[in-house]
Amino acid sequence: MKNRLLVLFVGFLTAFTLTPVLGQDSFDILIRGGRVVDGTGTPWYYADVAISNDRIVAIGDLGNANTSRVIDATGLVVSPGFIDPHTHALQGIFDVPNAESALLQGVTTLTEGNDGSSPFPIDEHYRAIEDLQISPNWAVFVGQGTIRGSVIGAEDREATPAEMERMKQMVREAMEQGALGISTGLFYVPGSFTSTEEVIELTKVASEYGGIYISHMRNEAFALLDSVNETIRIGEEANIPVQMTHHKVIGVQNWGASVESLRLVDEARARGIDVTIDQYPYTASQTSINALIPQWAQEGGREQLLSRIMSQETRSTIKNEVVNLILYDRGGGDPKNVFISRNSWDPEMAGKNLAELTEEANMDPTPENAADVVFDIIRGGGATAVYHAIGPDDVVRIMQHPATTIGSDGPVGIFGEGAPHPRQYGTFARVLGHFVRERGVITLEEAVKKMSNQSARRLNIHDRGLITKGYFADIAVFDADEIIDKATFEDPHQYAVGMKYVLVNGEIVVENGSHNGARPGRVLYGPGYAGN
Ligand SMILES: [Zn+2]
Repeated sequence: MKNRLLVLFVGFLTAFTLTPVLGQDSFDILIRGGRVVDGTGTPWYYADVAISNDRIVAIGDLGNANTSRVIDATGLVVSPGFIDPHTHALQGIFDVPNAESALLQGVTTLTEGNDGSSPFPIDEHYRAIEDLQISPNWAVFVGQGTIRGSVIGAEDREATPAEMERMKQMVREAMEQGALGISTGLFYVPGSFTSTEEVIELTKVASEYGGIYISHMRNEAFALLDSVNETIRIGEEANIPVQMTHHKVIGVQNWGASVESLRLVDEARARGIDVTIDQYPYTASQTSINALIPQWAQEGGREQLLSRIMSQETRSTIKNEVVNLILYDRGGGDPKNVFISRNSWDPEMAGKNLAELTEEANMDPTPENAADVVFDIIRGGGATAVYHAIGPDDVVRIMQHPATTIGSDGPVGIFGEGAPHPRQYGTFARVLGHFVRERGVITLEEAVKKMSNQSARRLNIHDRGLITKGYFADIAVFDADEIIDKATFEDPHQYAVGMKYVLVNGEIVVENGSHNGARPGRVLYGPGYAGN
């Protein structure tokens, strides 16, 4: 607020002390002398970028313009602010409405409601975000798991016709309240109990409103290709654009499967099915410790899972499947590849891996003994874990695919809390620093496009994501030689460096590399929004 007043005050003074020259333009902010990477993929070019109110109003040689605030971008890149199509930012945004972890990477729009889990109703949620006042823009998908959970619960069965009608009505309501589309988490309970046909019926409703379908697929390990085919089929039969979110290949013996998954995407696109991808640039995932438990054992919810774990009949069957998931799936072949990242009932556990925890329990760190430790963690109250099991060559191959965009899959960082996956602090800076500058996997122009314009088109945000006249002034100004992620798995609570200025809706939020406290973010309504 202080900064905003100062800007106003300086602007006021300037207006009175400078004699306006006839024919001279007047702007609120002029970003001068930077290399513009405009989000289209076009090679960078030198231009000044002028902003008045919340919009980009001029681009070109504007050196003599009458401006209350000049940002010297000499030697820096000026790009659209980044749009994150997959976050779990509801975790953290109410604690940290400044969302430094995102803004300091140049992220100006966060998308929630992924993996089938979303706030509901959407309008109430949007009002809460507006009341909170946050730094980035905000938009959500409606979650199929949330809808099924509220209508059917955690039961593994088909929906009745009446339940189907009720669920469709909820999708309709969400789309009219401004959801971007519908998400599923077919890997998670209750999404895993949903037939493909049921998903098609619900996505048809989102399609009527111009929304998209974004899916955490049923399986990203041994059955990855079946899941890709299922996602494509849903897109085809529901006539809806689909996005395979955080596309990756889990489990050492599945590595390389992206050759085939990307071929399926290319074939589908050639047939006219609009399939796209997003990914995070890491070789580890993060999700609940329940990812090591077979889905059938989770039916009905936590109490039933606990009784199945305790029961003599089912315990050993579950245990065998946990061992298999450690050896051939999420566990990356060894208990030492699974790290607890957050544990509300025993915070000391955060940062330790399953092998260490097994040894602490005076057992050899075999997969069998680690499975017992997993049962103990679930009995204690559960936890979130980081799983090192993603193929590194697949990460590169997927990044280079033209249909791929970048998304963090992370919450808003609460600085110092737990041992989270570093992606919430590092995703976008890591692409620019590690994959573009250090390894040359994609060009700077491609990276910016994948992080801005391409996600904006996909999400039906048609006035953001480019440096072009008339668009909202969501802008990132960074040093391409310096930008890098600092957060690591060992030491995750580190902000990215190299981001110099970030503007959201024409207001400066990051200034000289620091967040200035401004909170100009807005709710962005989806294509079916029916108005107030
Ligand atoms: Zn997910």
